[in-house]
Amino acid sequence: MAKGLTRCNVCGKTAEQVFEGQMLISIHDRIGYGSKYDGSMIDLDICSDCFDKLIDSFTEKCAINLIKENF
Ligand SMILES: [Zn+2]
Repeated sequence: MAKGLTRCNVCGKTAEQVFEGQMLISIHDRIGYGSKYDGSMIDLDICSDCFDKLIDSFTEKCAINLIKENF
């Protein structure tokens, strides 16, 4: 994706508004067999603020912690 057009999927802010100097989590991949989204593409960009909120709620659903601290 061209620079400047990247937007956080969650809050909709552009890269210039939130991503400067911050990490940006991107997942761009084809979804494979076994998912009901098989054959679709995932086009996901998340700013660090939304990532934190997402992980906070997602971690509660996980049996195994996905965050490794002080790795
Ligand atoms: Zn965001």
